[in-house]
Amino acid sequence: MTSTPSATLNVSDTQPKETVVKKTRKPVHNCHSCLLNLGDHCWLYEYPRGQWTRKKRCPAFENEDVYAKFREWETKPHVKTAKDLRRDVFRRTKKSEEHHNHFGGGTLP
Ligand code: SF4
Repeated sequence: MTSTPSATLNVSDTQPKETVVKKTRKPVHNCHSCLLNLGDHCWLYEYPRGQWTRKKRCPAFENEDVYAKFREWETKPHVKTAKDLRRDVFRRTKKSEEHHNHFGGGTLP
């Protein structure tokens, strides 16, 4: 018994598959000198890449009104999230370990 390849072809294989583009929060190259660029995300926009499509320029880039709001926000006290607290603990322990290893914490032969 032989089966032809067309007999086993599934209908869903012939239709184009949907591509899911993940929208990243990371600022793009054009955001390099922007004050609102916080490294891994933008202070204002959830999807920075969307602000720089084709010939469109980000409306908040070098916008002094928005920058003033950001500076005002920076001066306000902030509640640390659980993630921030975890990062602080991790950084503190990492620094102290490096310090102890550097200054006699290691074992000598
Ligand atoms: S405000 Fe615009 S230019 Fe600035 S980081 Fe966000 S997306 Fe980039």
